[in-house]
Amino acid sequence: MKKLEEYVVSIPDFPEEGIIFRDVTSVLQDAEGLQLAVNTMQELVKDLDYDVVAGPESRGFIFGTPIAYNNKKPFVLIRKAGKLPRETVSVSYDLEYGSAVIEMHKDSIQPGQKVLIVDDLIATGGTTEAMVKLVESLGGEVVGIVVLMELAGLKGREKLAGYRLDSAICYQ
Ligand code: 5GP
Repeated sequence: MKKLEEYVVSIPDFPEEGIIFRDVTSVLQDAEGLQLAVNTMQELVKDLDYDVVAGPESRGFIFGTPIAYNNKKPFVLIRKAGKLPRETVSVSYDLEYGSAVIEMHKDSIQPGQKVLIVDDLIATGGTTEAMVKLVESLGGEVVGIVVLMELAGLKGREKLAGYRLDSAICYQ
């Protein structure tokens, strides 16, 4: 059986020159790759006690939902501004060029609930930091963050000091 990292195709100079894009679709389109990815992420956080799994569109949905389902927990969506139909809370954060806003439904997390955040990849940590703020603005407690891939050179982990962060694959 192949190792998890062998399912990830790395694409040089995408979306711009100098960036090595770690493609998650190559993992998902292989039945064993998908099993291995979800199982590995789930295993990393099996000791954690959490009430809710939260993940951002779109790739956070892919990994967050099966982890929630397998562990009989609810899954709540973190989406780009304007997509959720009911009352929301929002957080804006800086991107390399400009800024972005993410939202959650106000009733998706109850104060005091323990939340596991799931995403495909952490780079600078800006997206994850914004998700943590969003969950905390609803009174949730972030007990863990699990990602398939961590680009350690971009030091996202430093932005999240004080939070537990597990990654299935870590690129130096
Ligand atoms: P950050 O906010 O940590 O800098 O960026 C993380 C977000 O950008 C993640 O939600 C992730 O989906 C996306 N991202 C950045 N670089 C890559 C990459 O190389 N591969 C994939 N699959 N996503 C990336």
